Parts: sequence; structure tokens; C-alpha cells
Amino acid sequence: MSATKRYFIHTFGCQMNASDSMRMGEVLAQLKYVVAPTVEDADLIIVNTCSIREKAEDKMLSTLGRYRSIKVSRHAVIGVGGCVAQQEKSRLLQRAPFVDFVFGPDAIGKLPQILERVEKDRMRVVETAWMDSEHYLFPRADPETARGKVTEFVTVMKGCDNVCSFCVVPHTRGREVSRPLEEVLSEVRSLVAVGVREVTLIGQNVNSYRGGIPFAQLLRRVAETPGVERVRFTTSHPHDLSDELIEVFADQPRVAPHFHLPVQCGSDRVLARMRRDYTVEQYLERLGLLRQARPGIAVTTDIIVGFPGEDEEDFRGTLALSQAVRFESQFSFVFSPRPRTAAGLHEREWGTVPHEVKIERLERLQRLQREISAEIMRAQVGQEVEVLVEGPAKLDPSKSFGRTPENRSVSFDGDAPSGSRVLVKIHASSPNALRGSQKRVLQPVDRSCP
Ligand code: SAM
Ligand code: SF4
Repeated sequence: MSATKRYFIHTFGCQMNASDSMRMGEVLAQLKYVVAPTVEDADLIIVNTCSIREKAEDKMLSTLGRYRSIKVSRHAVIGVGGCVAQQEKSRLLQRAPFVDFVFGPDAIGKLPQILERVEKDRMRVVETAWMDSEHYLFPRADPETARGKVTEFVTVMKGCDNVCSFCVVPHTRGREVSRPLEEVLSEVRSLVAVGVREVTLIGQNVNSYRGGIPFAQLLRRVAETPGVERVRFTTSHPHDLSDELIEVFADQPRVAPHFHLPVQCGSDRVLARMRRDYTVEQYLERLGLLRQARPGIAVTTDIIVGFPGEDEEDFRGTLALSQAVRFESQFSFVFSPRPRTAAGLHEREWGTVPHEVKIERLERLQRLQREISAEIMRAQVGQEVEVLVEGPAKLDPSKSFGRTPENRSVSFDGDAPSGSRVLVKIHASSPNALRGSQKRVLQPVDRSCP
């Protein structure tokens, strides 16, 4: 294979997809591919797709259409990976006849063989078999790709064994497989060795981790790794928020005070139909214990509006819950029927919510959340907050950028290099960011660490 081949990966969707794209890049680097500066320069184009909502799927199809001309002009090879690939399999080859190969999330390690079949044997390939969970190998991060970064993702599990009635993930990502503890710890150590100071443990449902020890203990072990300053994790299901996990928040300060805990809805009737396995009261009770264990913890969430059968009263329950909890921020979505899901199949029977009602509810919810987020952020003005410096701010590189332990974004005047922990006085706020100036360095970058 020529040493000058270039690849371009277009990533849609969540942090699991971002992490998968990174792994694809590492596999391609072993095949001597280099990153193309733009998609127009690529010999290999991979679209890593998301199918969580119909809109994401539509966006990926129109992107794919745009890449068709590059295929014609450069004879580029085009592959589609991720959740739409897993869901559509060979149907994708029919829907997009210019696509050369389709591969599911379990097939990233097979990219060399897939490319060989496409390029040498001139075949169109579909590789979407699940890997047997006993033999599933988590792609390992190449620490060199993390050199210079302060914060990095570490995959700890994949798939999901829940059956939330709206969600396509169990069909596109398969059954849960937890990564062995030693493998997680060794990846964390290798990232710390190249300068990473904050790790985020990721998986579709991290707190149901079962890699030999429960998730709470995994979190503790990662937090105790020399050189790790902060540990975060995402995403969690509320019914796995154990007492043991709450305890870790109470006594391990390196576990960052931020919890993303998707509630989805503020109505018990809808939650039952969503098959979420908790009531609003139970959610609030767990959250109360968490806040007692770690006062000031920032709580964020996901919410779906317009779920089949949701009426105005159910929706008001969601508004009331948002008021009561005062989420730091939330990702809110209109319900999108997905193939092979119970809510997708029964939407009409349960009661389709008209599109304009869905949009109106979404706007009301987002308006409320913007007000709450703005108030929370405004309360930071005048405070001195701890920031882990990540580098220059994207929008204004004359400023530095970092995050507080609560995961609040801060751009500030300061000169501490990335990896340092600094104290920043906050001068101004918006609903999703803070601005300030560096007061002093709390912890300089320790080049000898660990
Ligand atoms: N595992 C997490 C949990 O249990 O809450 C959720 C992960 S899911 C990949 C991310 C978010 O997408 C969900 O929390 C939900 O709010 C949203 N989502 C999933 N399916 C959806 C659908 N059919 N329509 C709209 N939003 C959806
Ligand atoms: Fe989807 Fe999360 Fe439910 Fe799993 S727990 S089915 S990923 S919403």
C-alpha cells in the first residue's frame, strides 16, 4: 500500500462515535494512511454515522451525497461506519450505490481486511457481525495521539442491555460488554504518561459496568491513579446510581462534581411507557442523596418531548421537574420514531404528538433551561474558580481555555501552560460559558508526573 494515502473521517453523533473515529484513525495509521487536510484531498472517506434520531440519519445521507463527486474525481473509496451502518447493513449499499463498504462498530479492527477486499478484490463489503462478547477486544488508544492533550476519553464498556422503548442503541451497539479492569487502568496510566490530566470514562451506560468490579470501584481506582487530576464519566442510567457510587462522590475529590443523569421526562405515566424503570420521585430521591454527598455538584440531563401519548399535563411535569432540579444544562430532543423500537412501532396506537406541538414544547423547555443556566452561571460572577487549563480558547486564541470541576467552560486572560490548574476570577457569564482572569497558579504542570 502506498505511503501517501490519505483518509478523512466525518463523525456524527456522540462521544462513543468520536472515540470510535479515533480508533479508526489509529488502525489506518498502521496501514500508513495519513490524515487528509480536507475531504477533497482524501483517498479514503469514512462517514461514521449516528441513528439515534431520524434527523441525524438524514444529515448523514446528504453528507454522503456530497462526497460522491470526490469519489468520481479522485477515485476515492467511501465507507460508512457506526450505528446507521449497523442498522441498515447491505440496504445502505442499495440506498447509496457509490458506497464501497459498510461496517458496524464491532468491525473497526477488521478495517485492514475490509480495505484489502475493496481495493484488491474490487468487492463491495458489508461487515456488521457482532463480536462474541467473550472475545470482544476493545480497541486500545494509542497514547501518542493523546500527547499534548489535557483531557481524554477512555472507553470502559460498550452496548446496552436496557430496553428503553424509544432507543435504537441496543440494536445498533449490541449487548453490554465491559472492558477488563486492568486494561482500563493500563490505558489511563499510558495517557497520564503523555500528559493527560483528566479522563472521561465513556460507554452507553457506564454505571452498569461489570468488568470484575462495580463501576463505583472502577471510578475509585481510576481516581487513585497517580497523575490523574480529575475523572468524569458519561452516560449513566438513573437506576444504576448506586449508594456505593454516591459514596465515591462524598470521599474522592478527584471524581469531578458533575453528573450527567438523563431523566428523559417528568411524568411517571410517560416514564413507564419509556420503560425507564424509575419514577420522578425515585429520581429526585437519588439526586437528593447525591447532592447531600457532594454539595454544589452540577447535574445535567437529557429530555425527550413529544413522546407518544405525552399530553400537556405530562409535559408540565417535565417543566416542573426542570424547575425543581435546576439542571445546569440539558440536551433536549423531540421524540423521533426509530426502527425496531417499541415506541417507534406503537407511536400511532399510543398517540402521535403533532410535530408543531413537539416543537412548541421543545421551545418552552429550552427557554426555561436557558433562564436556569443563565442564573447558575451568573452566580459565578465575582467568584474565584479552579480551572484545568486545556489550551488557547478557540474563538479568541489570545485567551486561555479550561473547565471548572463542574465542567463549566471558562475563557480567561492568563499565561499558565495547558495542564496547569489555576484560580480564575470570573468577570462575566453567559448561559453556557464564563469569562475571567487568572489570579494564581494552584498547580503548575508537573513534567515528571507520574
Ligand atoms: N444511556 C443514556 C440513558 O440511559 O439515558 C442515553 C444515551 S442516548 C444515546 C442519548 C440521548 O438521546 C437519550 O438520553 C435521549 O434523550 C435521546 N434519544 C434517544 N432516542 C431518542 C429518540 N428516539 N428520539 C429522541 N431522542 C432520543
Ligand atoms: Fe438507550 Fe440509554 Fe436506554 Fe440504553 S439505557 S436503551 S442507551 S436510553
